[in-house]
Amino acid sequence: MTDFAKTKSLFHLPPGLVYLDGNSLGPLPKAAVARVGRTMQEEWGDMLITAWNRADWMNQPSRVGDRIGRLIGAPPGSVVMGDTLSIKVYQALASALEINAERNIILSDTGNFPTDLYMAEGLVKSLDKGHELKLCEPGEVESLLSEDVAVLMLTEVDYRSGRLHDMKALTAKAHEMGILTIWDLAHSAGALPVDVGGAEVDFAVGCSYKYLNSGPGGPAFIYVAPRLADQVQPALCGWLGHEEPFAFDLAYRPGAGIERMRVGTPPILQLSALEASLDIWELVDMNDLRARSIELSDLFIELVEVGCPELEMVSPRDGSRRGSQVSFCFEHGYAAMRALIDRGLIGDFRAPDIMRFGITPLYIDADDVRKAAAIIEDVMGNRLWDSAEYFVQSAVT
Ligand SMILES: *Cc1c(COP(=O)(O)O)cnc(C)c1O
Repeated sequence: MTDFAKTKSLFHLPPGLVYLDGNSLGPLPKAAVARVGRTMQEEWGDMLITAWNRADWMNQPSRVGDRIGRLIGAPPGSVVMGDTLSIKVYQALASALEINAERNIILSDTGNFPTDLYMAEGLVKSLDKGHELKLCEPGEVESLLSEDVAVLMLTEVDYRSGRLHDMKALTAKAHEMGILTIWDLAHSAGALPVDVGGAEVDFAVGCSYKYLNSGPGGPAFIYVAPRLADQVQPALCGWLGHEEPFAFDLAYRPGAGIERMRVGTPPILQLSALEASLDIWELVDMNDLRARSIELSDLFIELVEVGCPELEMVSPRDGSRRGSQVSFCFEHGYAAMRALIDRGLIGDFRAPDIMRFGITPLYIDADDVRKAAAIIEDVMGNRLWDSAEYFVQSAVT
């Protein structure tokens, strides 16, 4: 059984605050401070450039990738870290389109995160080969799979509502029609059990700064199924994805397997912070995490619904169809979230009217959930959001 009191004690959580936004930016693992400090002092400071060899910085993206792989059901050597998620989406899509070159449709849904769709639009434009990005409602995906579709590109957990796609079933259906799949695990990795190997997913991507707590700007990951890894042609042919970066060849030759998805110099300090977080993940059984996430989310929903009739629950009621977040719809959601933050409850707002709360059992317990529900009830019941200052929108919501 995972000891969640122990995992909670390993995070820096400012006193007096309930943090229900770990789905957007995970909190600081206490050990990350010393860990990054060591990387700075002993490696960067004392070893200087020799640390690429002596501290094995060069292999850190694959070493850390293997640790992420354990959380998402990917075998060793199939995940590599680097860049941002937007870039990894682009790489996966470009490679998938090249493999399925005789087809021209990219199918995605309106629940996908905009950057994934923007990256696809940009790629379609630069390829200029007549590809089409087709969007449907999340519930229609299965019925729109056809032999014209080259790639099915979805985010498993909807960032707004928390609705969960059936990754395994949709991947199997897609494969029956020769469609390649790309799954964005931004709200899945570290949120619920994921098995990209068992589901036979072709490509998966995700970020490390949400549920995996690598800190702001932490690198993304990409998984390529081992059966495809030596076949994919990277669209972003960076020198660190080259077979022999230090041969300084004038022509590009892709590296072996997943290594070819590397682009340029990796962010060593962020990867060190992520390693400190992954030490905590070693203590966690994903099935325990999932059970606890559903239990805490159900409690949160029950308390908020009883206390705040003006909030409409927009997440699936059935915990098995939900990621690790709960969202409510409210016309003045932005102002209400600002009022909550002022009173010690941090969640976030997603346009046009969604108040989103991440339920992250690694460091959130039933006591936090009760405190959060009481703050929400106070803000809603007493219209504490109805104040001019809360209607002025900040750059980041
Ligand atoms: C958070 C998120 C992103 C963010 O992409 P970055 O390039 O890391 O800024 C992309 N896609 C999804 C589905 C997300 O949830």
